[in-house]
Amino acid sequence: MDAEILERINRGIILRTGAYLTNDHFVLPSGRHAQEYVEKALATTEPAFTEGLGDVIAKHFAEDPVDLVLTTGYGASLLGHCVARAHPLRPRFIYANKQRNGSGASKVVLPREFRQYFVGNPRVLIVEDIVTTGETVKELIKLVKSLGGTVVGIGALWRRVRRVNFKFPFFTLVDREFPTYTPKNCPMCRRGMPINQEFLSGLGPQKARRARPRGN
Ligand SMILES: [Zn+2]
Repeated sequence: MDAEILERINRGIILRTGAYLTNDHFVLPSGRHAQEYVEKALATTEPAFTEGLGDVIAKHFAEDPVDLVLTTGYGASLLGHCVARAHPLRPRFIYANKQRNGSGASKVVLPREFRQYFVGNPRVLIVEDIVTTGETVKELIKLVKSLGGTVVGIGALWRRVRRVNFKFPFFTLVDREFPTYTPKNCPMCRRGMPINQEFLSGLGPQKARRARPRGN
């Protein structure tokens, strides 16, 4: 099937989960405005959809030798479990924990109990839900290498930023970087469309009030 059609179907599935919101007015953590928004916590709230999306990722990597599926974060772990379940080689599913170091940078740490699975150079498929900066995936790649594993590839639901890539096969169900605007150039602000207060990511209530377009 045409990749674009397939992507539209996948985007439709994510839309049905309620994680993908369109035709609205959002303020992103960067302060830029957008008509679309992905609330990644909602992407894995419908088990049947999570399973279906996991199937597609597993199918993409079905020919690849995978010993371990590795994730970090709650949503990505639900998806990673489904990918591991659907992969023909029945890889083991494990996760790393996100931690912040003293300077506030985040890193991923493998629970000690999972270290045993890295004996003998395992082949690892990394699974993530939404990839924006790619930093988390890069951390996971570093972790795999540091433990003597080999990265087979990365599977994710959505690549939000086109230029984000890795040195390993990277498969996403949706590859869409939607347009964002400065408040000054925002077409929704110009139309006086109220800002969606429910999904004011990263802004406190005071900032949220200030973020309202003038005249509202
Ligand atoms: Zn706006």
